[in-house]
Amino acid sequence: MVKIGVGDLKARPGGEIEFKSQEKWTFLSTVSGNIPIVAPVRVTGRVTNTGKILLVQGQAATTLELTCDRCLEKYRYPVVAPLEEEYAGTTAGQDANGEKWDKVEVRPLEGDFIDLKPAVEEALILALPMKWLCRENCRGLCPHCGQNLNESQCRCDARPVDPRLAVLGELLHKKEGEN
Ligand SMILES: [Zn+2]
Ligand SMILES: [Zn+2]
Repeated sequence: MVKIGVGDLKARPGGEIEFKSQEKWTFLSTVSGNIPIVAPVRVTGRVTNTGKILLVQGQAATTLELTCDRCLEKYRYPVVAPLEEEYAGTTAGQDANGEKWDKVEVRPLEGDFIDLKPAVEEALILALPMKWLCRENCRGLCPHCGQNLNESQCRCDARPVDPRLAVLGELLHKKEGEN
């Protein structure tokens, strides 16, 4: 658990504290499954008591193991995710007139602690790439034989994909033969 003690800070409007933590998580849980985490999760930043809320600003960094969309090989993906979160106790989330602020999502404090884990998990998920590629020019798998074309070329290139192309291929061969 990435927990930060903020008991003192809560009583010091304008005050701030720095934090730094490193811990081992085995996976990142997402809607589409668990992603293995293959390096410690390092979280650094500071908490500022703004007078209304506790503002956390920092970053989370680790390395994930993703699976390439094209060749299905696993690869390591280093990720650095910015953190900016607001925390408040049960009475906060309201200003002096008792009016609720609804423009920001304020996370709850756990007594005198901030549990950063949910925020870190969300930040890492947001930092995931749209396309998972082991390398930008990944050549993927051969649709015929399944050979990983990054590793070696297969012999399927000689085999036509489309019957219409096959006919065309034959015509070209004939032409070559005529010359
Ligand atoms: Zn790949
Ligand atoms: Zn092939």
